[in-house]
Amino acid sequence: MFDVTYRQMQACAGTSTVSKAQPPRPMVRLGIVIPCYNEEEVLPETARRIASLLADLQQRGEITEDSGVYFVDDGSRDRTWSLIEELSRSNPSLHGIKLSRNCGHQNALLAGLFHAPGDVVVTIDADLQDDPQAIRGMLSAHRDGADVVYGVRRSRDKDTLFKRSTAQAYYRLLTAFGVDIVSDHADYRLMSRRAIDALRGFGESNLFLRGIVPRLGFPSATVSYDRAERFAGESKYPLRRMLAFAIQGVTSFSAAPLRAITLMGMLVSLLSFAGVAWVLWIRLASSDALPGWASTTLPIFFIGGMQLLALGVIGEYVAKIYMETKQRPRYLIDRMS
Ligand code: UDP
Ligand code: MG
Repeated sequence: MFDVTYRQMQACAGTSTVSKAQPPRPMVRLGIVIPCYNEEEVLPETARRIASLLADLQQRGEITEDSGVYFVDDGSRDRTWSLIEELSRSNPSLHGIKLSRNCGHQNALLAGLFHAPGDVVVTIDADLQDDPQAIRGMLSAHRDGADVVYGVRRSRDKDTLFKRSTAQAYYRLLTAFGVDIVSDHADYRLMSRRAIDALRGFGESNLFLRGIVPRLGFPSATVSYDRAERFAGESKYPLRRMLAFAIQGVTSFSAAPLRAITLMGMLVSLLSFAGVAWVLWIRLASSDALPGWASTTLPIFFIGGMQLLALGVIGEYVAKIYMETKQRPRYLIDRMS
C-alpha cells in the first residue's frame, strides 16, 4: 500500500479545502501517460493492469468515464506501436501517440503531458517497476489540494548496490548545488492541469523534469510505494545514458561547476604565486638551485590538467547554449490512435 506525505501544503493551509461542511470534490478526468521504447514484452501486461485499475477507479466514482491511458511510442523499433494500435482498437480508453523518432524518455513524457487530456495526468514507466496502485494515493492527495504528487520509492533494495549508492550520492550532490529535487523519485508523478500549463512555459531543450517540476512551486505531496523489478525486457538506460542524464541534471540547473572552476583557478594561482616566491628564493638566496626536472614538469601537467578540466566544464555549458538557441521542437508527433 502507500503512505501520503504532504510537502508544501502549509503554503495553502489558510485556504484549505478540507472542511466538514464542504460537498465532496467532483470526480476528475484522469490521463495516464506511459512512455514506451521497445517495450513489446511488457506492454500487454502493463495495459492489462492499468486498464483494470482505470475501470476500478471509474466504478468507484473517483474518475470520469472519459479518463484514458496514453501510450507514447518513442520511436520504438520493435512491435510496440502495432501493439498500441491493437490495444486502442480493443479498448476505447486506451490511446496511442507515436513520436516520429526516438526523442528520449523526458521528451516522450513531455509529449504525453502536453497531449493527454484530463484534469490530472499521471506519468508512469511502462515496465511496471512503479506500482500502478499508488495512483489511488496520488488521486487522494490531489483531492486534498496537491497540484503535484510525487511517487517516491520506499526502499531501493531491488537496485544493485552500485545503482543505490551512486543514486544517493547524486541526489546529495544536486541538493548541494541548490537543485530542488525529491529524493528517490523518478518520473512517476501526478500533475494537475494548472501545473501542466505552467510547465509549458519552460521551453528548454535540455529537459530534466525532476528538477523543473519542484520549481513550479505549487502545493505538492509524496506517495511512497515499493518499487519492483522490471516486469520484462531490459533497461533502456545503460550506464552511458544514465551518466549523460546525470550530467544533464546538474548542468541544466546549476552554474556551481563553473563557479567551482573559478575558485579552483584562484587557488591554483595562489599556489603558483607561492611557488614562484619559493623558486626565486632558492635561486637568489641559496646556492643549491639545480635545474630541476620535477619542478618544471609537474606544474606543466598540473596546470594543463586543470585547464583541460575547466575547458571541458565550460564546453558543457556552451554546448547547452548552442542547443537551446536552436529552439528546435522537442518532439514531433507522427500519428495518434
Ligand atoms: N523510454 C523512452 N525512451 C527512451 C528510453 C526509455 O520512452 O529513449 C521509456 C521506457 O520505455 C520506460 C521508461 O522510459 O517506460 C524508463 O526506462 P527504463 O525502465 O528502461 O529505465 P530504468 O528504469 O532502467 O532507469
Ligand atoms: Mg525501469
